Amino acid sequence: MTRQIVDVNGVRIGEGFVFIAGPCAVEDEALTLEIACAVRAAGAAILRGGAFKPRTSPYSFQGLAEEGLKILQKAGRAAGLPVVTEVMDSRRHAELVHRYADMLQLGSRNMHNTPLLRELGRMRKPVLLKRGMSASLEEWLQAAEIVRAGGNEAIVLCERGVRTFETHTKNTLDLGGAVLARERVPYPVIVDPSHATGRSELVGPMSLAAAAAGVDGLMIEVHPRPDRALSDKEQQITPRMFARISAGVRELLGGMAAEPALARP
Ligand code: PEP
Ligand code: MN
Repeated sequence: MTRQIVDVNGVRIGEGFVFIAGPCAVEDEALTLEIACAVRAAGAAILRGGAFKPRTSPYSFQGLAEEGLKILQKAGRAAGLPVVTEVMDSRRHAELVHRYADMLQLGSRNMHNTPLLRELGRMRKPVLLKRGMSASLEEWLQAAEIVRAGGNEAIVLCERGVRTFETHTKNTLDLGGAVLARERVPYPVIVDPSHATGRSELVGPMSLAAAAAGVDGLMIEVHPRPDRALSDKEQQITPRMFARISAGVRELLGGMAAEPALARP
């Protein structure tokens, strides 16, 4: 199977190890720019940030909508990073996000939304397909197939944890599932240790574990003052922590490449 390389405005996912980083949500311009510059300096290749937030409670911060898209695009351009952000619903909405983003994220809560998957299949923009929180590996790969059948093969899969009986972590990271997905389909597979654990102290260890397991990259939530973040404060890490993780992963992968028994196929 020839592995697919997904080009996001010059960043070739699947070719080397990629870091996507940024805030959970775009909160304001100065903060987004600060984060964009910090994550770029620490090795991120793509900036993330939600403008439409699919929150569990209707009373939580819902995102800045189009204003957030504008800020994200501006920050990405200023830092020299392509941007990825979530499309939440409908054709009209997908077209709006399409205007500002370099990559379209389909969130966990929407993985079973067939009309939206079809819509992304018709668009000519890379798709970051998150695994549904209760989706089997099979269902996740079928969702990717719906996008592909629409004519769009620029797909990156993202394992973000699944629901189990365990309550100590927000979700349970299915690292084995991420590795198997990568064996089953040609698309790059990345891991989101932020949503997979919901705990900032676990982001580092799970990042190293995912890199050691052979995935193509990581998506990590970064905020300079996580305790004051408007969403997901428990799992966001500081730019400093992100820089340490990025350096640690690079060291690990360098060591693995030098050790033939552990080298990636
Ligand atoms: C996100 O990455 O912004 C997000 C909301 O994640 P998920 O869809 O995996 O919950
Ligand atoms: Mn989040």
